[in-house]
Amino acid sequence: MKIAICPGSYDPVTYGHLDIIKRSAVLVDKLIVTVFVNPSKKASLFSIEERLDMLRETTKDIPNVEVDTSTGLLNVYAASKNCHLIIRGLRAFSDFEYEFQRALMIKKIDPTLETAFFMTDGRYSYLSSTGVRELAYFNGDVSQMVPPYVEAMIEKKLKLLKK
Ligand code: ADP
Repeated sequence: MKIAICPGSYDPVTYGHLDIIKRSAVLVDKLIVTVFVNPSKKASLFSIEERLDMLRETTKDIPNVEVDTSTGLLNVYAASKNCHLIIRGLRAFSDFEYEFQRALMIKKIDPTLETAFFMTDGRYSYLSSTGVRELAYFNGDVSQMVPPYVEAMIEKKLKLLKK
C-alpha cells in the first residue's frame, strides 16, 4: 500500500493546502494529513483540535485522506505509519530554501524517507495561513482563500479574541 504524509501547521487550512492534498491523494493509496506543532511559528490562532476539525471537514469528500496529529519527530511518526514519502508544497523561492534544508535533514536522519514537492497552483501562489490570519484580523475578505467552513471558524475565533 502506497502511503504518504502531508505534514504542516494548517493554522488554518487554506485552498492552497487543499490543492496540494487533492493532487497528491490521487497518486497514493492513503494520504495522511498530519498537524504538527511548528516550534518556529509562535503565534498560533487555532488549537490543534480546531485545526484537525477544519481539516476533517474540508477533506471529508476525499476518501483516501486521513487526518491526524503528532507532537514527535516526523521520521519517527512516518515509520510508525509505515510510510516512506513526505509531500510538501512549494510556492516561491522563499519556500525553496526552507524546504530544501528540511528535506535534506529528513534524508540525513532517515535515508529511506523521501520528500516530494508539488508546485503550487498559480491561483494560490500568494496564499499562506499567516496571510489569511492577518487579513482576517483586520476584517479583510478571506472567502477566496479558505473554504466557507474555515471562514466561519475564523470569524467565530476572532470575535472571541476581540471581546
Ligand atoms: P509548515 O508550518 O510546516 O510550513 P504549513 O501549514 O504552513 O506548514 O504548510 C504545509 C505545507 O503546505 C507546506 O509544504 C507549505 O509549503 C504548503 N503550502 C502552504 N500554502 C500553500 C500554497 N498556497 N500553495 C502550495 N503549497 C502550500
